[in-house]
Amino acid sequence: MGVAPHLLAPAINAIMGQRLVRKLCDKCKKPITLPPELMTDVKKQLESISEASGEAKVDADKIQFMGPVGCEECNKSGYKGRIGLYEILIKDAEIEKAILGGNISEYAMREVATRQGMVTMVQDGLLKASEGLTSVEEVKRIVGL
Ligand SMILES: [Zn+2]
Repeated sequence: MGVAPHLLAPAINAIMGQRLVRKLCDKCKKPITLPPELMTDVKKQLESISEASGEAKVDADKIQFMGPVGCEECNKSGYKGRIGLYEILIKDAEIEKAILGGNISEYAMREVATRQGMVTMVQDGLLKASEGLTSVEEVKRIVGL
């Protein structure tokens, strides 16, 4: 961001990311089976959700994912409205030290965050997809897998 790390670290308490995904139309969404390769990626993500997050463990094999169809209600798009995917990183001593050090990679930051219990945006998206709120395809399109 072009700001000196020692100025930045004390000023930040939390870093939040948000992306919007389309919400599946409640009138026409239908149960789908994910292609095996996609399912493998989904499983990997769901299994890597931090235990510290407080999220209940989800068994990807038991999830009924939903997909878009299209009807009058949603202008044939299969989607209606949007929902937010979030990730929130709380600044703790470890993160502050890392920022002050000025040499933390995004990957390292993510590692600390996950240990802290952060659910990543992808994981949040897949949890929402597992509830049928959006589709895995949509999550993949917006935040990647
Ligand atoms: Zn519809």
